[in-house]
Amino acid sequence: MIFDLKVIFTFSNEIFLIKNELQSSISNFNETLLEKDKSVKIDIKDINKNLLSIDIISEGIFRPHNALLQMKNFLSKELGKKHHLGIREITIESYTIDFDLEKKPIKKINIPFADVKINEKQATIILKNVDEEFLRRNYIDRMISLVKEKVENQYYEGKEEFWKLIWKSNEKKHTWSNDPTEEMTKLGWLKQGPTKGKWFYRPQAATILKTMEIIAIEEVLKPLGFEEIIESNIVPFNVWLKTGHLEGMPGEIYYVTEPATRDVEKWERFIDLTKITKDVPLDELQKNVSLPTAGICYAQCPLIYWSFKGKTISEESLPVLLYDKTAVSGRYESGGRHGIERVDEFHRIEPVYIGTKEQLFTLREKMIERYKHVFNDIFDLEWRMAWVTPWYMQQAGKISDNSTQETGTIDFEAYMPYRGDRAKSEWLEFQNLSILGDKYIKAFNIKAQKTELWSGCSGIGLERWTTAFLAQKGINPDKWPEGFRKYLKNLPKGLKFL
Ligand code: ATP
Ligand code: ZN
Ligand code: MG
Repeated sequence: MIFDLKVIFTFSNEIFLIKNELQSSISNFNETLLEKDKSVKIDIKDINKNLLSIDIISEGIFRPHNALLQMKNFLSKELGKKHHLGIREITIESYTIDFDLEKKPIKKINIPFADVKINEKQATIILKNVDEEFLRRNYIDRMISLVKEKVENQYYEGKEEFWKLIWKSNEKKHTWSNDPTEEMTKLGWLKQGPTKGKWFYRPQAATILKTMEIIAIEEVLKPLGFEEIIESNIVPFNVWLKTGHLEGMPGEIYYVTEPATRDVEKWERFIDLTKITKDVPLDELQKNVSLPTAGICYAQCPLIYWSFKGKTISEESLPVLLYDKTAVSGRYESGGRHGIERVDEFHRIEPVYIGTKEQLFTLREKMIERYKHVFNDIFDLEWRMAWVTPWYMQQAGKISDNSTQETGTIDFEAYMPYRGDRAKSEWLEFQNLSILGDKYIKAFNIKAQKTELWSGCSGIGLERWTTAFLAQKGINPDKWPEGFRKYLKNLPKGLKFL
């Protein structure tokens, strides 16, 4: 890596007369930097009136922009005392960074704040018009990482996702090959709407969904010692900045805006227009709402981690075993929507676990055992488990195929007879289970007294459990497996419409 930073210092007065002194000061300063990084070189390009032009070059261990900020302090002290000279302004003429890439980019790469030039496996980023504040922030290193990440991702585009089978059940007899959403809609158990990807569950469908919730809690979470919490349904951006959701899925978030004011006078025109037109005056509304700073829950774990922010957890509370079943998840699924299995608003239970690596490995085995009990003994499902791209990488918009299997995500998938042949059709991911290492533990600065903490979560989608089960077992309770009938054998009568 080669960094080349060209800068002009503007002093409060002429520096020409102290040219020699300045030169030796800068060379002394350069000496001190050489102790940190042998490659840092400061060249004086010009000294003219009150302007000093320099060029700081380094091979990158000690970044020139850090050298520059230190040099500013150094010169201010040296010249301030003796000559009453101050530094009025620092102008960055250009900042050029050359670095090697692992692979040659397939197509052009653009990033904000800089031009990116690529020559085979060599990248150059050229920054212009940046100020001191820009250099002070940690942008430069992130810009380099971003270029590398973009090249890496170009190689994954269009490639099949990582998927490695862990376990699969026997083939099971299915009682029908219909799409449960369609059938339930025909019977009036379900109603689509009122907006895209949302559903109204009439008593029959609601009962099935709620039964799934009861089974998850009674058969999986309670026996393992999980305790329920209740969290907010609205997640502020600063939490998602830490978890990576804003980088990963900004196009799937349902954004939440607050009113800019409660002042009745400010809302008067909006109210009047609504009364007269019996329509929503959107232009007027826009004046009275703020830009969003939060979104509707995407997954429940971010707020659970947030609740532990900066805390030291007592050893006796480990492993922490919590779950939320209150917050409803909102995701803008756009073209992907289908029935109640891919919706914009869904009901999940999310268990979150924090503990030592060993505790989490043991827990993972126990959770899989309980899940297997539900899907085999209660649902009698045809399903399988596979390692997939870790959850946090998907959520951060990254793609990878090297999950270590100590950490990583397991998807649970069910055969959906209505989609066709079991070997050729796409199976439905109805839940997942992840161990995420110390990623979120670090992000939220969570500690234990002695041990190193890891964490993980599992997303139990109630709509997905429901459709997976109904797609194989049908909607006639008489034909449901005995295990499930112990929980539900009579559906509510529901309503008749004329
Ligand atoms: P998919 O690949 O199907 O989009 P995902 O990887 O986005 O799923 P996760 O973020 O891992 O899903 O969420 C975990 C669980 O949440 C899923 O296993 C599923 O049960 C449920 N889920 C996710 N998205 C939806 C959706 N749009 N509709 C219904 N359930 C969903
Ligand atoms: Zn999670
Ligand atoms: Mg998704």
